[in-house]
Order: sequence, then C-alpha cells, then structure tokens
Amino acid sequence: MPGCALPGTPLADALPGINACVHCGFCLQACPTYLNLEDENDSPRGRIFLMRSLLEGTVGPNDPSVKEHIDQCLGCRACEPVCPSGVPYGQLLEATRATLREHQSISPIARLILFVFARPWLLRPAMFFSRILAATPIPTVLSGLKGRLGFAMAMLASTGRSIERARYDVRSRGERGKVATLRGCVMDGLFGATNRATNRVLEVNGYRVVDAPGQQCCGALHAHAGDLENARKLARRNIAAFERSGAEFIAVNAAGCGAIMKEYGHLLKDDPEWRDRALAIGSRVRDISELLAAAGPRVGGPLPMRVTYQAPCHLQHAQRVTQAPLTMLAAIPGLELVPLHDSDQCCGSAGIYNLIEPDTSDAVLEPKLANIRATHASWVATGNPGCLMQIGAGLIRADMGAKAIHPVDLLDASYAAYGQ
Ligand code: SF4
Ligand code: SF4
Repeated sequence: MPGCALPGTPLADALPGINACVHCGFCLQACPTYLNLEDENDSPRGRIFLMRSLLEGTVGPNDPSVKEHIDQCLGCRACEPVCPSGVPYGQLLEATRATLREHQSISPIARLILFVFARPWLLRPAMFFSRILAATPIPTVLSGLKGRLGFAMAMLASTGRSIERARYDVRSRGERGKVATLRGCVMDGLFGATNRATNRVLEVNGYRVVDAPGQQCCGALHAHAGDLENARKLARRNIAAFERSGAEFIAVNAAGCGAIMKEYGHLLKDDPEWRDRALAIGSRVRDISELLAAAGPRVGGPLPMRVTYQAPCHLQHAQRVTQAPLTMLAAIPGLELVPLHDSDQCCGSAGIYNLIEPDTSDAVLEPKLANIRATHASWVATGNPGCLMQIGAGLIRADMGAKAIHPVDLLDASYAAYGQ
C-alpha cells in the first residue's frame, strides 16, 4: 500500500485479506458482538474498516478506542462462512492484535495466562492445583458469588460433572492407521477422563493410538491474543513432537486447538525452515469427530438420555466440521438428540475472552442458556474445553440442572454400556 502507516507489521502483511472485503454487510447478522452491542465498530465490517484505517494512518495504533473494538471481538469466526468474498477474518484479527501489542499493553490477567500457558513447568502445577480445588466442594460453594470470581469457580466446578461409566476392554487391530492425540493444556489438566475416553473410542474404531512425547500447548491462546512469537515457538515444538510420533493422523478433541493446528502452515508461512513441515503436520490434524465419523463409528450400547448439541465456533466456522459430531452422537442407541436453536452461535467463551471481557461474554451466553432451557435436555454436548466450561458454568449459575459434556464422553459411556 503506498504511504502505509504501519509498514513491516503483521497488519501490513494482511492487506490482501483486508482488500478482499467488499463491504456488503452479509456478515453483520452472523456477528454476536454486533447483535449484542449494536455498534458497527463491533461488527466484522466495522473492524475491517478500522484495520484499513490503521494502515492508512487515519487512526493511530495507540488509539484506545480501536483496541477496545478489536478486543471486543470474540474471534469466533462466524463471519467467515457467510462472507461471499472469502475474507480470512481470523487471520486479519490475529495480525491486528499482533500489531496493536507493539503499541498498547494487554490486560494483566491475559498477560499472566499467556505467560503460564507458554511454560510447561508453570502450567503443570497450575493445573494440578486447579484439579485439587475442583475435587473439593469449594468451587461449587463459591460459584454463586457475583462477578468473575464466582464465574471462574463455576467453570472449575463444571469440570467435575462428567458421566459415570463402567470400564471396558479395548482390542484394536489398528487397521485404520496410527493416531497420535494432542493432550492439550486444559484438556490434559482438567478433562483427563475425556482424554482417556478419546484414546479408547479411537481404539474401538480401529485406530492404533501412539504417544507423541514433547508436545505442548498448541499456541491458540497466544495466536488469538496477537502473541505470534510464542504461538510460533509452541507450534515448532509440536510439529517436531508429532513428526517423531510417526502418526498418520493427529486427533484433537479441543476445537480451538484443532483449528490452529490445521493452520500451522499459515502461522509459519514466513519461516523457510518450518513452513513445509508445518503444512505437512497441519494436513494430518483431524478433529476427533472426523476420525470417528470416517470409521462409522461403531454403534455402542443404549444411553437413554436427552441431549442437545452446541457447535463450538472453531469446529463449525474455523474448521467447517458440522456433520461429524452429529454422526458420532447418532451411533448411540437410545440417545434423544434435541436440536438447539442458534447452536452455531458463540457461547461467549472464546479462549480467555470470558475472563477479560466478562460483560460481553455474559451477554452472549444469556441467549445460549435460554435456548438450552427450551430444549429440556439434561446434557449439552460440545467438543471444546472452553465451551464446556463456559456453558457448564452458566448452567450451574442459572441452576438449570443440565450438564455440559464432551461428545466423546457420551460415545465412550455408550461403549461401556455395550461392554466393548
Ligand atoms: S461479508 Fe465479507 S465482504 Fe461482506 S462486509 Fe463482511 S467481511 Fe466484508
Ligand atoms: S470473529 Fe465473531 S465476534 Fe469477531 S467479528 Fe467475526 S463474527 Fe464478530
């Protein structure tokens, strides 16, 4: 761009994507922040206009109102599938946040979380402590407190509410290939039972599960916050770990992690040593539901439960995986799947958004809970730890009785009922 006000920045690199926007406004009604805040600056089109204004120099990168509108974005990418011009909004958002970080600091809580998640020696004890706390009645007791502390406690309390299931033996011949699973940070720390269920259901469906030692946080939280340097460092470690595993597929049961791993090639596009390796690993990443749907999946034993399904944004919009989770649930005899109105709308979790933008997050969660209530379902199935905790916390605080659960846990319980 002639006379670019921010040359050499990630935002300047993203100019072709910004130019792709034809300002048609088809994205507005898909955008939860626009629908809730009713401000064009909090819409995809408005934010893209702000990005262009930054490059043209008509607003400065120090302008706090620009950062406010960019911060308000959930990064849910609901604006991407509806865009007729194929604007890669998620990439534009990350580039903008990375550029603004050079001029304005991020919130202390976001800085702390990103610092811990990039360092396994800090993350492990933090998760251990969270697990211990979650096993006590304290989070449930404190979940009624007003404000973020109460909500954070409800999130923690929600992690201990999975389904009871019997043990069963798995015998896989591995005819569908070798799979390494991403352990993840929150999944490994707070949803260990779901990770173990993931390995079991893969084996039941003919995959051979292998370990990938040395893997770390996927880097999604860092990339979404504009901390591209740490996101790239984490991506390189994961690429090396999954290469060593020799796996044909990398199974991911956290939609946000799967989305960034599929896009490692974009994240490392300017790194000649890692670009091709990142593309190769990205092409092997599958959401767990994709692998299971490709295998059938095998039908389990009966689970007479009323369940509704909430599509995680990073599965539905970023990975464009819509049918596979429903195919998984359809393999469970007796399970009554009730449609959820606006199931493709964000729940307001969005990584660490619910902790740093609590008011907008609550406003986005409210209609979600109302829609869940209307289904009269006892369980809300969703395949992402952020959504599990956000919806789980909302259900606890609204005293609705229903629980959030990963679809893998349901399939695993069905296999346990069958006695595989
Ligand atoms: S739908 Fe796409 S092209 Fe139209 S305004 Fe939104 S981002 Fe721009
Ligand atoms: S990512 Fe979500 S919140 Fe952000 S502009 Fe797009 S639709 Fe709106």
